[in-house]
Amino acid sequence: MRHKKQIAIIGGGIAGLTFARSLGNEMYELHIFEKKEAFGEVGAAISVFPNALCVMEALGLLPEVLANSGAMQKVYLKTDKGAILSRSEPRYEYPTVCIHRADLHRILLQNVPAQLYTHHALSDISHLENGQVALRFENGETRNFDAVIGADGIHSVVRQHIINDGKPIFRGYNVWRGVVATRFDIGYGSETHGNGKRVGIVPVKDGVYGWWATCNEDFMQSDEPEGSKNKLLRLFGDWHDPIPELMANTEHIIKNALADREPVRGWSKGQATLLGDAAHPTTPNLGQGGCMAMEGAYTLAKAIERYGLGSQAFQRYEDLHFPRAKRIVLESRRLGVVGQLSQPLLIALRNLAFRCTPSSLAMKLMSKYFEYRVTKLEV
Ligand SMILES: Cc1cc2nc3c(=O)[nH]c(=O)nc-3n(C[C@H](O)[C@H](O)[C@H](O)COP(=O)(O)OP(=O)(O)OC[C@H]3O[C@@H](n4cnc5c(N)ncnc54)[C@H](O)[C@@H]3O)c2cc1C
Repeated sequence: MRHKKQIAIIGGGIAGLTFARSLGNEMYELHIFEKKEAFGEVGAAISVFPNALCVMEALGLLPEVLANSGAMQKVYLKTDKGAILSRSEPRYEYPTVCIHRADLHRILLQNVPAQLYTHHALSDISHLENGQVALRFENGETRNFDAVIGADGIHSVVRQHIINDGKPIFRGYNVWRGVVATRFDIGYGSETHGNGKRVGIVPVKDGVYGWWATCNEDFMQSDEPEGSKNKLLRLFGDWHDPIPELMANTEHIIKNALADREPVRGWSKGQATLLGDAAHPTTPNLGQGGCMAMEGAYTLAKAIERYGLGSQAFQRYEDLHFPRAKRIVLESRRLGVVGQLSQPLLIALRNLAFRCTPSSLAMKLMSKYFEYRVTKLEV
């Protein structure tokens, strides 16, 4: 029997799991190393746009993703007092959906064709003379592999080894998120703009909604002593319905700082390459970080199938994926600057621009992101 090449995937997030599912285990033996004590995800919602749903369809997961998510039939932009700035109805080949991250993770994880390891935080990589990579984990284990895929997120250890561009760059605002069952059916997705603050609401399913809220603050400014919920109600308590109620009824609130990195090429070194947030971390203003992770994972797998496990495949993947990732990172950053404006005159101009832009034009501007079909690429 032919010896299967061994691939280590560092990180069991969207990128690592989608890659394992896209490549499969016929030619390769896949090992996913996760630093946490379990494979799983935090209690928040994630929007999955048509450009990523086509990957789910190629992997045979679309029906399950759709069954566990809510479709965004309409999207509103609003002011904090509830005035509608614009309204659009996304119409693409696939819907735009929102799903609980735990559900998406569960769907990607079930029957994933890989051996899974928890409590394995990668600490170091070295390249051996025979072309293999040697991995060292914080638990003291060392293992050699034919290749390593760094899908270890925005603070990637693999990126440090390959690119070494320091810490992610904080963009001046923090975000809180929650998921909550409601007594009402809001029936739409919305983004509400205030003064240096924003709130998004997305339908998950069956009356469950995900929300996020941003505020210009110092990096991970503490919410103590008042606590996150009281602070949010102080910041957003007079915003339009149902924002205060969603926040008040949320049991578990997560806070993150929002950061990205300058998009740079050079994602591979020897038999190691980067994937997902490790390669192209982005602010979430376009809701594309996870979607891009799926696209990249699919492209990398197809490149390996076509060119074999090595530099030619890694280079082809980067050539195909980098320009799009760069555009999304930069556009998302710009949208964040506009969304977090805090000067009244600029806010008035922004809101006027939202009001005056026909929804057909807004949809057209977005369609280059959402109508992209990575599954049709000539790899
Ligand atoms: C507030 C917010 C909202 C967002 N909303 C959306 C959205 O609506 N739609 C969308 O598409 N994207 C969204 N994103 C982006 C999306 O969450 C990320 O782009 C996506 O999770 C990236 O997946 P990943 O697998 O590359 O990285 P991660 O999800 O970060 O997964 C990396 C995994 O690697 C593990 N790991 C890290 N270091 C090590 C190590 N040294 N050894 C072993 N394991 C390690 C981690 O524990 C983790 O499990 C949002 C992000 C934020 C912050």
